Amino acid sequence: MSELTTGKFSMAISDLENVQITINNIVGAIEKEADEIDVEMGPTVKPGVSSLRDWDHNILERYNPVYTPMCDQCCYCTFGPCDLSGNKEGACGIDLAGHNAREFMLRVITGAAAHSGHGRHLLHHLIGLYGKDHPLDVGATNIIAPNVQLVTGVSPKTLGDLDSVLSYVEEQITQLLAAVHVGQEGASIDFESKALHGGMIDHVGMEISDIAQISCLDFPKSDDEAPLADIGMGCLDASKPTLIVIGHNVAAVTDIIDYMEEKGLNDKIELGGLCCTALDMTRYKTGDRTLPRAKVVGTLAKELKTIRSGIPDVIIVDEQCIRADVLKEASKLMIPVITTNDKVMYGLKDRSNDSIEDILEDLTTGKEKGALMFDYVKLGELAPRLTMMMSEIRKQKGIKALPTDEELKELADKCVHCLKCEVACPNSLPISEAMTALSEGDLSNFEVLHDQCIACGRCEFACPKDIDIVNVIEKSSQRVISEEVGKVRVGRGPISDPEIREEGVNLVLGTTPGIVALVGCSNYPDGTRDLFTIADEMLRRSYIVVVSGCSAMDLGMYKGEDGMTLYEKYPARFKSGGLLNTGSCVSNAHITGAVIKVASIFAQKNISGNYEEIADYTLNRVGAVGVAWGAYSQKAASIGTGCSRLGIPVILGPHGSKYRRALIAKPYEEDKWSVYDARNGSKMQIPAAPDYLLTTAETVEEMMPMLAKSCIRPSDNNMGRMIKLTHYIELSQKYLGIMPEDWYKFVRTETDLPLAKREKLLKILEKEHGWEIDWKRKKILSGPAMKSDVSAQPTNLKRLCKEA
Ligand code: SF4
Ligand code: SF4
Ligand code: SF4
Repeated sequence: MSELTTGKFSMAISDLENVQITINNIVGAIEKEADEIDVEMGPTVKPGVSSLRDWDHNILERYNPVYTPMCDQCCYCTFGPCDLSGNKEGACGIDLAGHNAREFMLRVITGAAAHSGHGRHLLHHLIGLYGKDHPLDVGATNIIAPNVQLVTGVSPKTLGDLDSVLSYVEEQITQLLAAVHVGQEGASIDFESKALHGGMIDHVGMEISDIAQISCLDFPKSDDEAPLADIGMGCLDASKPTLIVIGHNVAAVTDIIDYMEEKGLNDKIELGGLCCTALDMTRYKTGDRTLPRAKVVGTLAKELKTIRSGIPDVIIVDEQCIRADVLKEASKLMIPVITTNDKVMYGLKDRSNDSIEDILEDLTTGKEKGALMFDYVKLGELAPRLTMMMSEIRKQKGIKALPTDEELKELADKCVHCLKCEVACPNSLPISEAMTALSEGDLSNFEVLHDQCIACGRCEFACPKDIDIVNVIEKSSQRVISEEVGKVRVGRGPISDPEIREEGVNLVLGTTPGIVALVGCSNYPDGTRDLFTIADEMLRRSYIVVVSGCSAMDLGMYKGEDGMTLYEKYPARFKSGGLLNTGSCVSNAHITGAVIKVASIFAQKNISGNYEEIADYTLNRVGAVGVAWGAYSQKAASIGTGCSRLGIPVILGPHGSKYRRALIAKPYEEDKWSVYDARNGSKMQIPAAPDYLLTTAETVEEMMPMLAKSCIRPSDNNMGRMIKLTHYIELSQKYLGIMPEDWYKFVRTETDLPLAKREKLLKILEKEHGWEIDWKRKKILSGPAMKSDVSAQPTNLKRLCKEA
C-alpha cells in the first residue's frame, strides 16, 4: 500500500519540481489521517431497502422507466396466470407496469445474488486457507474498497472485515427477494427503487469477491503492466492432453495450477478456460508479472463450440454462465465432467470423500460420466491425472468430433432450405444460404457465420433434417478458428490512487473526454468484431477505455493493420487513451470504484456511507458511460443497474430490450434539465446529457455518437466541452453521415465550439438557430440556453446547497 508521510515544506514552492499538490492537501496524507481518526460518516450507512428511495425517485423523475414487456401475462402464483394486457390488473391487483418493474428487479437481484453467492463461496474458501486476519492488499490505494465504503461506511482491512459486509449484502438481497412475492410491492416506481438498490448492492458483492481473491491469490494489484495472456480457440495445442475449465469461480482451479506446477506438467497439459474463470486463471500468481500458466479459450459463446470440437479431454465446471447441457454434450464425446460447486451439480455423485484411484477408475472406464468434487486439494491431483489418462483413452478409441470433409458435404446436401433454423436463431443468421454455398464447396459463408453464431444450438432443435448445424459451422470454419489467436491483458484489478490523482481533474473538467466501460457478455447482435471497432475508435479519440469479463476477452481477438491487438497497442494505465482490463465480471466493481475514487481523491468528498452525494457528483461531473453490447445475463442487468443508481449511463446491445425496461429521459422537457447551484441554491439549466441511464442501441453506428454525448456533463469547462462536442459531431458524421440534431444545445459560448469548425458552426447558429454573433470578434452575443460558469456547483440535492 502506498503511503505519503506528512511533514513540513521548508523550501519555497518555486523550488519544487515535479511535485503534485492537489488543492488544499497532499491527498494521501489526508486519507491516512482520516483512516487513523474516526472517519466522518455520511447519512446512509448500510442503507436498507428504503433509505435511498428519495435519491431513486429524484433520478426516476428525470429518467423515466420505459417498459417493453416480453409477455403480458403473469404466472407467479396460483391465482394466475393473469392476463395483464392493456395494463389490466391481475387477480392480486398488480398492473402490467408493476409486474414488468418486478420482473426487471427480479433479474437484477438474481444477478446480485449470483455475484454475492460467488463472493460468499470464495471468501469462505479463502478464509479457510488464509484466516480471517489475512490483510487486504489490492495495490497502491488508501481506499481498498470504494463501493463497500460508500455503501456501508466500512473500510475493510482483512478478509474477516469483508465477511461482515457480505452478511449485510445477503440481508439486503433477501429483503429484496421477499418483495417479489405476490401481494407485496404494488407501485412500479418502488419496484424500480428496489431494483436500483439491488444494483448498488451488487457492486458491493462484486467488490468483495474481487478484492478477496486479489489479496490472497497473488493477482496483479492495480498493475498497469499486467502480463498478456493467449486467447482464442486457435491458441490451444490440440495435440496435448487438454483440460478445460468453465465458469466464474477460480477457487477450485488454483489447486490444479499448483499441482501442475509442482509436478512439472505445465508443458505436458494444455490448460484453458472459458468465461470469467478463464480470466481469473490467468490472474493467478501473475502479481509479479510472470506469464500466465493458463490460456483463455473464450466466452460463453465458445462453450458448445469448444466441446463439439472434441479437443477437451476433461471439463471442470464451477458456477454461472455454464450451459446446462455441458454434461450431455461432453458425454457424447467421452469427456468426463467434474463439477466443483453446489450451484451446478448435474445430478452427479459427490465423490469428495472417495479415493482418487477409485474416481479415476470410474471415469476412465466410462462407468460414470462425471463427478462432483468439493475437495479442491484432491481435485488438484485428480484433474491433471485424469486429463493425461483420458487423452490416451480417447485417442485409442478414435473419438470423432466434427464431421469429415465428405460428411460435411453430405450434411449440406441434406438441407431442404425450409428456413426453420433461421427463424429459431436469435440472430436470424442466414444458415440456409450458407448450406447452399457449402454444397458447392464454398466455406466462406460459414466462416463468416462462425463469429456471429453464439452457439446456442436452437437451430439444431428446429431442423427437420436433424443436421448438427453447430458442427457444420465449426467444421467449415477450421481455417478461421486456427487463426483465432489473440492476446488479452491479464486483469489488473482496481485503479490506483496515483492514477486517480493524475486523471481526476481532466475527467471532471472534461479535457479527458470520458471513461467508456465495455463490459458484459457475448450475446452480440453481429459478431465480436464490434467491440474492437468501438474500443479502437474511442481510444484514438483519447477516451479511457476500461473493459472486463467476456468483452475484455473478445476485444483481444483482433489485430489492427499493424498486427497488434489493442492491448499491445495502448497503455494499460488509467489515463487518456489508456486501455485497461480490470478482470473478470466481479472486477466491474473497480469501474464504479474508480468513479467513487474520483469524488474522494480529486474532490475530497467524504465517501463513507454517503451514497447519494457521490452519485449526485458522478451524474453531474464525471463523464463516464458503460456499454454492455452483448448483455444477456441477469448479472449484466444488475451491473448496469448499479451504474444507473450511481449516475453512470449504460447502453445495452439490441438484445438488452429483453430485460423489459430502460431508463430514458426526455431532452425536450426543459424543466427536467435544471439542477441547483450548490453555491447559493439557485436553479441552473444543464445540458440534456446523459439523456438516459439505461437504454439500448440497435447498431454500433447508432451507438457511437451516443457514447460521446453521454459523457457530456454540466461541469465541463470550455476546453472539455469543446473536446466532447468535437467527438460528438465527428462520430455522428462518421457513423450516421449527419450532424447531430441537438449539437447546438450543448454550446454555452463560442469557446465550447470545436476549434477547427468554429466559423462554420457560428454561421449555422446564426442562420438556423437565430443566434446573435459578433463576427468581428467571432463571439456569441445571444442564443445559448445555458451560461458558462466554471465555478458553478451543479447538484440535484437541495440539502447540499449553501443557502438551502
Ligand atoms: S402475482 Fe398477481 S398477477 Fe401474477 S399470477 Fe399471481 S395474481 Fe396474477
Ligand atoms: S447455434 Fe448459432 S446459428 Fe444456431 S441458432 Fe444459435 S446462434 Fe443461430
Ligand atoms: S432447418 Fe435444417 S433443413 Fe431447414 S434450412 Fe435450416 S439447416 Fe436447412
